[in-house]
Amino acid sequence: MRAVAYQHFVHAKADVNVGKQEGPFVTVIIPFLNESDVLEQCHQRVCHALSTLQRSCEIVYVDDGSQDSSWQLVSQFQHPTHKIHSLRLSRNFGKEAALSAGLKFASGQCVILLDADLQDPPEYIPDMVEAWQQGAQVIEMQRRERQGENWLKRTTAHCFYRFMSYISDAPITENVGDFRLMDKKVVEVINTLPERTRFMKGLLAWPGFTRQVMTFDREPRLAGKTKWNYPKLIHLALEGITSFSTKPLRWATIAGLTTSFFTFVMAMVVLTKTLVWGDPVVGYPSTVLIILFLGGIQLLSIGVLGEYVGRLFIESKQRPLYVLMEETTSEPTFTQSET
Ligand code: UDP
Ligand code: MG
Repeated sequence: MRAVAYQHFVHAKADVNVGKQEGPFVTVIIPFLNESDVLEQCHQRVCHALSTLQRSCEIVYVDDGSQDSSWQLVSQFQHPTHKIHSLRLSRNFGKEAALSAGLKFASGQCVILLDADLQDPPEYIPDMVEAWQQGAQVIEMQRRERQGENWLKRTTAHCFYRFMSYISDAPITENVGDFRLMDKKVVEVINTLPERTRFMKGLLAWPGFTRQVMTFDREPRLAGKTKWNYPKLIHLALEGITSFSTKPLRWATIAGLTTSFFTFVMAMVVLTKTLVWGDPVVGYPSTVLIILFLGGIQLLSIGVLGEYVGRLFIESKQRPLYVLMEETTSEPTFTQSET
């Protein structure tokens, strides 16, 4: 096994795959964070699924700053016919950055994104590859049921997908997570997208190409706990909305225009009443309500504006998406003749 260690090496191989014609048949990218309980089984099941393809493939493991023994495990993985590439990020950069790192390294003719916790069953890989061979360039895996997730998560996820599809230009298929197959051409396009805010659902949908949706039953987590919590999900949702659409800014403008219009109408009514009938000063509750209402709209609009200014600030810094600390490659121990 060849091991290369980089000290705070900033990865800059943006065009590493461009122009390469040959390469592994399929690349499977598996990002993980503290998944030592499941990685062995994950590796076995992925290798087994890939072996049914009878071609030499590649697995890219991306360690997103694990604190447990996950890295020690993956850096030892080997396979007779598949190349195993393991990347270790210098800290936890988030699944989106880990996936982006994997996508830059992937050299297969098509790429599959898979969670390490086996919620996305690797047994679907042969079917996905078959669909790709029949011409689809993106195979989106749609969850038929969201087992192991409570009512609240299911409902909020549903609302989020609906909302995102409404506000974004590239359609985002409901209940499709990161589990998908993409042709090399699609991956090359995604690798050229420069933004720091990696809202993966949007980025993966953005290039278009011929798409096919396959349904599957998402399994409960094999072991360990989900890395998501509500604050993180809210952050992701806000990031997704503000990085993929400027519609909220438009809504703030429309809210401003609408309230101005009603204020004008009301001013006319109040003025006329005062001038014609000489109304005494009444209406304390309505005055307070209007002040509060306008204050609310103003704060909301400033907040929306702030979100976009924040995005601009982050994007303008042009920091790398992730820092690669270590990398190991295990070449196939036995090379099988390609069909
Ligand atoms: N993950 C990651 N970095 C993170 C959070 C999660 O690489 O910061 C990995 C995690 O180890 C798993 C996958 O992303 O392989 C999906 O995470 P999780 O199962 O926690 O999400 P869920 O399935 O609940 O949406
Ligand atoms: Mg999971």
